[in-house]
Amino acid sequence: RAALSPTVAGGEAGESLSLRPQSLAEYVGQAALKRKLEVFVRAARGRDEPLDHTLLHGPPGLGKTTMAHILAHELGVRLHLTSGPAIEHKGVLAGHLTALGPRDVLFIDEIHRLAPTVEESLYSAMEDGRIDLPVGEGTRARTIGFELAPFTLIGATTRTALLSGPLRDRFQIIEAIEFYGDDELAAIVCRTASILGVPVSGAAALEIGRRSRGTPRIANRLIRRVRDFAQVRGARSIELADATAALLELGIDSEGLDMLDRRLLTMIVENFRGGPVGVEALGASLGEPRDTLESVVEPFLLQRGFLLRTSRGRVATMKAARHLGLELPPGWQG
Ligand code: ADP
Repeated sequence: RAALSPTVAGGEAGESLSLRPQSLAEYVGQAALKRKLEVFVRAARGRDEPLDHTLLHGPPGLGKTTMAHILAHELGVRLHLTSGPAIEHKGVLAGHLTALGPRDVLFIDEIHRLAPTVEESLYSAMEDGRIDLPVGEGTRARTIGFELAPFTLIGATTRTALLSGPLRDRFQIIEAIEFYGDDELAAIVCRTASILGVPVSGAAALEIGRRSRGTPRIANRLIRRVRDFAQVRGARSIELADATAALLELGIDSEGLDMLDRRLLTMIVENFRGGPVGVEALGASLGEPRDTLESVVEPFLLQRGFLLRTSRGRVATMKAARHLGLELPPGWQG
């Protein structure tokens, strides 16, 4: 049974817990990943050992935290949740580690944001199952090694490149969570709608799914807004017209691009002659941190062919220009 520690990061936990699939079978999509994880879980259970340390990476909202919940559930152990920024010093980490029961899972979200000293004590915990704890004060202060129960660390990050080499190397399982297909997102929309108790037409579910940036969290957010439109209309079910009206109001276009996506592409075409432009310059012009662009905005635009990443910077594609109704300048290098 999963237990929520008081250090749950982010404000979404309450909202999304009921929407969270509880088992691998309920987890939509990611078929190849699920097949592999199922084998690893069964093998670990068969040996009565913890699952190997696992790193899940991919853009926000694709289901990394959900997968950690499910893995703990399938392993039959408790899940302890925290995040990189919440572990302020070694003592906090030690508190989490010593609270773990045998084979429990410690989930660290945003693991790339661990302080360097905390990260270093995590190394020995992951590798040797030990942690050094300070005891005593002043001249009598010393550290004693503390033996930990065998455990699994599940780390989540948007991109593996954000992790230091030594930390990355200590994970035995490193898996990507990919963007979801339209049909998979439509299935998630239908599932969420049924949990919310509102019928949704197949056409509406597919339209919402298609325009969710490949991301379950966005699909779940959109279905709630679309439901508002249907409710205000006095309808008992969500129809395609509710979906299109809500999506228009929310500024999400026919390809599922939001305002920031369009601002980024428009900026490249109009201010940087279609590119290439460096990500730093782009971030400065948009007033967005580089990491947001690289971890949140760009992956979807790259995947859908609106953007190219070249050695000299980002380039807007013909598809992007056409979609936005813009002309690429002569000499554009896409
Ligand atoms: P991440 O940790 O990658 O940011 P979460 O695990 O918090 O993402 O997932 C965001 C939301 O999307 C959750 O509310 C969850 O219910 C839903 N979700 C994610 N993946 C799936 C999936 N494969 N099937 C159904 N719902 C999902």
